[in-house]
Amino acid sequence: MNARPKTAGVIGWPIGHSLSPLIHRHWAEQEGVDAVYLPILVEPGADNLKRAVAALRAAGFAGVNVTLPHKEDALKLADTATALARAIGAANMLTFQGDRVHADNSDAPGFAAALEALSFRNGECRALVLGAGGSARAVVHALSQMRDPAGGEMRIAIANRHAPRAQDLARLVGGRAIPWEDRSAALADVDLLINATSLGMVGEPPLEIDLRALGAGAIVADLVYNPVETALLRAARARGLRTLDGLEMLMQQATCAYRSWFGAKASVDRELRLLLEKALAERARP
Ligand code: NDP
Repeated sequence: MNARPKTAGVIGWPIGHSLSPLIHRHWAEQEGVDAVYLPILVEPGADNLKRAVAALRAAGFAGVNVTLPHKEDALKLADTATALARAIGAANMLTFQGDRVHADNSDAPGFAAALEALSFRNGECRALVLGAGGSARAVVHALSQMRDPAGGEMRIAIANRHAPRAQDLARLVGGRAIPWEDRSAALADVDLLINATSLGMVGEPPLEIDLRALGAGAIVADLVYNPVETALLRAARARGLRTLDGLEMLMQQATCAYRSWFGAKASVDRELRLLLEKALAERARP
């Protein structure tokens, strides 16, 4: 009798747009692992999530990724959680361990790994994060953990449309909140700019920001991955700045779940990037 395939999935509402099934299936094929990774549509609400998680656990799933709008409820329903997920206040990964559910957040290490791949030198670095939602919290926590060998610390500024959310997040990590209207002027003191808002995403308004004040050595990162090349990244490249797109972080964060549920190898390589870019291009066709 054949062993049953290892099974996992991603829960969200909506979920049809998720690239996670493509990523996990690609790695499983590369490795020859008998794995199933499914998109699972679960309506908003803590009770709906709880029921779905109980059913998936009973069905023998190894775990599930969790995306909008369930990330905060996912943390609340877990029996145990990493300190990182608790600090961020949200989980995007639930692992089923016997009758217990363990929560983790792979967005923060995913962002840190993506930045590392760019040979980013941290320490005495001044970062400006735009946004104060779930992904901004993950990015800010990743930045707050970064140190250089000399012990230099990241200086973090946060700008958000609703200022109190930026202030709360800044307080958590010893950063500084700046008014949303001052985001362009603030760039003179910034080495690393990160867009962690949904602005610039397909169907959302553009991100309005003037990059002229950024120094020549600055890096511009955008968490938005649809489109892959956002207007922000285009403007940064036109100025000759180094850039980091949202696909890189998306692929990096998926390695945590894949390695823990399916196998040892999960390569973030050109082949995977091309696969995801092709899928996004096909979806954009009228
Ligand atoms: P949230 O809904 O938690 O946060 C949205 C953020 O965008 C808030 O800071 C919100 O500000 C801001 N925002 C929304 N509309 C506007 C507007 N019109 N003007 C100014 N600010 C606005 O979303 P997430 O943090 O989960 O996701 C943000 C983006 O990051 C999305 O595009 C998502 O796809 C992407 N993402 C990418 C990942 C990756 O791996 N590359 C991982 C996770 C997310 P306010 O608080 O004032 O409402």
